[in-house]
Amino acid sequence: KSSSSCDSSSEGENDDDDDDGSCSQIMEEWDKRKKHPFSLHPELWFNLKGQANDGLLCRCSIKSRLSGIRHEIYPGEKPIDYCSDESSNLSGLHHYRITMSPYTNFLTKVPTVINHDDHEYIFEGFSMFSHVKLENIPPCKLLRFNIEYTVDFIPESAPENFTVRSLNLFNRFIFTEILELVDVDWTGPSGGCQRFHYLPRFCRTLPDSGCKEVLSMNTVLSFLLKSVKPLVDESRLEEIMTCGESEWHARVDNLRGMIVCNPGLRPSSIRVDQLDRKVTTPVIKADNYDDSSDEKNKTVKKTKTDGEVEKEKDEKDEGTDSQPKYPLIIHQGYRPAQLSYAGDPVYRKAWKQYVKFRHLLNSKPKILAADKLKLKEQEEKLREIRMKKTMKREVTVELSSKGFLCTGLRADLCQHALMVPVLMSHLRFHICLDVLEESLEYKFQERNLLQLSLTHTSYRTNYGTNPDHTRNSLTNCGMRQVEYGDRRIHYQNTRKRGICILVDIMSRFGKQEETASEIPHNERLEFLGDAVIEFLTSVHLFYMFPWLEEGGLTTYRMALVQNQHLAVLAKKMKLQDFMLYVHGPDLCHESDLRHAMANCCEAIMGALFMDGGLEVVDRIFSKTLFDDEDVLLHTWSDLPRHVLQQEEPGGDRHWVKSSPILQKMEKFEERTGIKFNHIRLLAKSFTHRNIGINPLTLGHNQRLEFLGDTVLQLIASEYLYRHYPEHHEGHLSLLRSSLVNSRTQGLVYDDLGMSEFVICNENAANEGMDMKTKQRADILESFVGALFVDKDLDYCRTFCNVCFFPRLKDFIMNQDWNDPKSQLQQCCLTLREVGGGEPDIPVYKVIKSIGPTNTRKYVVAVYFRGKRLARGTGHSIQQAEMAAATQALKKRAELFPILQHQRRFLERMKKDDSERDSDKEDGSPSKVSRRSARPNQRRRQSTRNRI
Ligand SMILES: [Zn+2]
Ligand SMILES: [Zn+2]
Repeated sequence: KSSSSCDSSSEGENDDDDDDGSCSQIMEEWDKRKKHPFSLHPELWFNLKGQANDGLLCRCSIKSRLSGIRHEIYPGEKPIDYCSDESSNLSGLHHYRITMSPYTNFLTKVPTVINHDDHEYIFEGFSMFSHVKLENIPPCKLLRFNIEYTVDFIPESAPENFTVRSLNLFNRFIFTEILELVDVDWTGPSGGCQRFHYLPRFCRTLPDSGCKEVLSMNTVLSFLLKSVKPLVDESRLEEIMTCGESEWHARVDNLRGMIVCNPGLRPSSIRVDQLDRKVTTPVIKADNYDDSSDEKNKTVKKTKTDGEVEKEKDEKDEGTDSQPKYPLIIHQGYRPAQLSYAGDPVYRKAWKQYVKFRHLLNSKPKILAADKLKLKEQEEKLREIRMKKTMKREVTVELSSKGFLCTGLRADLCQHALMVPVLMSHLRFHICLDVLEESLEYKFQERNLLQLSLTHTSYRTNYGTNPDHTRNSLTNCGMRQVEYGDRRIHYQNTRKRGICILVDIMSRFGKQEETASEIPHNERLEFLGDAVIEFLTSVHLFYMFPWLEEGGLTTYRMALVQNQHLAVLAKKMKLQDFMLYVHGPDLCHESDLRHAMANCCEAIMGALFMDGGLEVVDRIFSKTLFDDEDVLLHTWSDLPRHVLQQEEPGGDRHWVKSSPILQKMEKFEERTGIKFNHIRLLAKSFTHRNIGINPLTLGHNQRLEFLGDTVLQLIASEYLYRHYPEHHEGHLSLLRSSLVNSRTQGLVYDDLGMSEFVICNENAANEGMDMKTKQRADILESFVGALFVDKDLDYCRTFCNVCFFPRLKDFIMNQDWNDPKSQLQQCCLTLREVGGGEPDIPVYKVIKSIGPTNTRKYVVAVYFRGKRLARGTGHSIQQAEMAAATQALKKRAELFPILQHQRRFLERMKKDDSERDSDKEDGSPSKVSRRSARPNQRRRQSTRNRI
């Protein structure tokens, strides 16, 4: 439990990366709000229309402000006809009860209660009335206080004791007047009735039936009216200030946690945490900054109207004996994260020096190295202050209670109310996704997948409105003591850099069952979609051009799958109107936006693949490619069968009798248990490229290899996507390349004993037994290609489940994804000095090459920070570099403390694993068959035995 909100309000923000420009902006904003004429208190932050805490919310270009979900422009949204004010309009409204789970931070010991008719009606959340029926919309999920919440809306029979006018009045009072959510757009840009109406549920459980009675809006509004009275009754001030302790406590107890308001000032409302009779001049207790308040007050007065100056005077004079004393409201708040350093005098001083020095340099004719160094030092100093997480953000504010009014409301209601905009934007977004689904001609079963595929990495947790407004209002009026969830949840979802995290994530095994990922953006789907698109284009091209060589196919494919082209497709789908990403100049640049759109296009294809399978994504991808060109669409979609299949539509196994080669193929079939309908396809896959055209196989296996490669990529990507939910796309790529590389393919080739079956001409036959890894891998790939042509993708999946995926575990344990060169680089990066500019990376130099061209050997040395670490020798430069890196890691291990850490980590992992294995020793299958079992099954078995 913690009451510090330092973590929460910096959710997803990166204060450390602020550049100079925004730094000035933040300070400006700091000054502006502190000097605001209607500011309630310099330390209480408030909401301004269109403004975040550090200035303008939207820094998008003017053009891009006209579109996009982030500007609350939802495609297909039309204005809604007004409800009639004095009726409940229930014939046209659909009622839903909004629920939160878990209840953490939404339940309180002292909820808002209305006493009516001798009964207590306790606030339990909101009801929502929608003008449209909400169908196929998933619950809204969001991360707040490091806790994952689900906001759901349950259709229920509607309460009837309200009018739309009463709801609208309440709506305006709570959201606009109290919480000052001035940026929430309740209607949409074209106006009309509010898209949703909200009713606060003050409930009591009826003793007889156990049913709930919801208090009428009429009663709620009159409660609010009656509640508005001065926090401290002026006529009884003397009495209040001098009453006995117990009476005072009784009075204060009821006020603690109450929302009080001071209309006209900003913020208008705050939560009372304590009321204090010890009257001192109001000061900011926990503030560590010198605010030079005198100077500030002067500025304030200048801009105030006479009446206000008068009031101000009252307050100033309060301390003197002649004026009545008011109790002090104590409010404990938090300074917004962005501003925590902006007011720090040390920081401000350093900043001024830095700016001055920079100006000075600009006017100098020649800049010396020493100047540069000094500038860098200053930058570093500023950065250091910003990075300091110790900077105090809690502030205790004391305010005279004079002029404050009670509202009768408490923090729990505000806490719930702040979720309303979140849900609203979620619903509006999903309603507009109907438009996208219509244009795709596909309805998602899992709408969340579609949402995920549209979520750019820049997109941050949803507040439904200006996030800073939510934070400010939450600090001012929400619950004071908030419980925080596991910080790691948030951390895991956003962080993916750093060697320790890399090693940590890369050493996790796959999940036994397919598991949904918690990673909240579309990069993983993009990883999958990329493989899907490549696969689809390869298959279509393969069949469309039966005589085109591998090189030609590759060229065509490249043209189709390249980023630029995908961006064109994304534009056809109008993805820019649906994508979720942040405000800011970044994606306003045409090229950046296009790039993001291309990625989003891939992600959508990935989502379609997951939701509807291969046929669906094939249809939609083809349609997007050629929807306006019938002939092309036809050519692309109506694919002929493979030439070998066309020759013998019913299968060609009758050829076996007369062909010794095919008889040999049958042996392979017997060995593997895979029987082909067209056995010539199998023979073709074994046919080396030096064999020309011949009646049996009609040429060599190169085209099948092209196909097989993409089949493997797709299957591996899909498997990893489904079973490694904690891996980011970069980690998935690493695993995939350890799985689908020549070495692994060569191993599978050897395991299947494929070398006996290779069909090549005399000269090559001698080499046959001693084929290079790459050649073995090629044959395996073309075999998979043949398997796909003869069977289908599912069959190939099974093949991979048996031959490839069980190896993953060993790859993970041995860190196979991490070749020595990458590992050395990572090690060097960990030695990077904080803020040290360009990172230090190892440098490789060829220092010798020995021998004639065909048997040449290279000697490479690797240097780090100008010092030689080690040397290595190899037949290629790449090989020699690897050898050098290996040597460096071995011989100079003392340089890299991270290595020890990793080693310990891996040892622990292996130990755990061997314990798992020994656990299930009894009755476990033999070593050989265990090896071929899926890693999942092995784990399942071991847990079962332990149980
Ligand atoms: Zn914007
Ligand atoms: Zn309405």
